[in-house]
Amino acid sequence: SQKGKYPERLAFYNMGLERDLHRKITLNEALKGALERNEFRLMYQPIVDATGQVVSFEALMRWRYQEKEISPVEFIPLMEQSGRIVQTGHWVLEEACKTLAQMNKHNAGICMCVNISLIQFYDKGFVNNVNRLIERYAIPGHLLHLEVTESIFQSDQMMINQKVSQLQQRGVKFSVDDFGTGYSSLSVIQNMNIDYIKIDRSFIQNIELKGLSIVQAMMNISRSLNFSVIAEGVETDKQRQLLEECGIPFMQGYYFSRPLERQNALVYLDQALESPPVVNGL
Ligand code: C2E
Ligand code: MG
Ligand code: MG
Ligand code: MG
Repeated sequence: SQKGKYPERLAFYNMGLERDLHRKITLNEALKGALERNEFRLMYQPIVDATGQVVSFEALMRWRYQEKEISPVEFIPLMEQSGRIVQTGHWVLEEACKTLAQMNKHNAGICMCVNISLIQFYDKGFVNNVNRLIERYAIPGHLLHLEVTESIFQSDQMMINQKVSQLQQRGVKFSVDDFGTGYSSLSVIQNMNIDYIKIDRSFIQNIELKGLSIVQAMMNISRSLNFSVIAEGVETDKQRQLLEECGIPFMQGYYFSRPLERQNALVYLDQALESPPVVNGL
């Protein structure tokens, strides 16, 4: 064996790399028929306004493979590399639109946020596919929010701009997810006609330290550039309070609710609509 030739640490390092590679290959293989085998499902995490009332849900993908939940952080990049994200992403959009239609059967005006990968957005049929879903499920366009990351704006700005504005003409809203973690944050929001930014969880986690001034700065920019702000990853009442003091209009995080199974999200919504939160002074 080669073992003796390597310094101990290097050998461990190589073993780690090999394990990672092996896992990737295994998961990739398993992802091939995952959609057909119904191994994917969506969970829905509420987003609330400044009064605590639920205004929308974010659809989050889950994959159950060999009795375990694999995180989307791991399997989404694999599906991007294989191109499988295009077909699966369409399934996500359709599932989310079905749930959205059901949530609005009494015209509650609830929105649905769907994460869209760059690869999916690049696909020629993307705009048409979204339009067809909106029609099939009779969804007012403005209730559908597409979440994209900053990286989407780094290449082929003309094409991206065109697709964004075609969908915006149908009322569809765009959010920049994980805002502040990419390379181009400020130029992106200056050049693009964005409706929301979602302040990345890392700034919220750090809000009792330096995060506060960054959140305040983002709020100031949002006022002058005319987009709205959602804080993601709010976990404590202290964080919520500081965000409220900054004037953040929308929040999402474990403090309000974890992502919920579809049926539980529908129940959650029914209860929220029946008894809206009591706000001091109102
Ligand atoms: P994201 O879009 O930024 O979604 C937020 C993530 O933070 C979710 O993780 C959510 O469960 C988690 N989260 C929410 N509140 C809290 C909190 O208070 N504390 C903490 N620690 N985490 C919180 P999840 O569901 O594991 O998804 C991870 C990422 O995978 C998403 O980040 C998104 O980038 C991607 N993703 C998920 N579903 C889809 C999908 O259908 N399509 C695409 N293209 N990407 C997806
Ligand atoms: Mg998101
Ligand atoms: Mg995010
Ligand atoms: Mg994220």
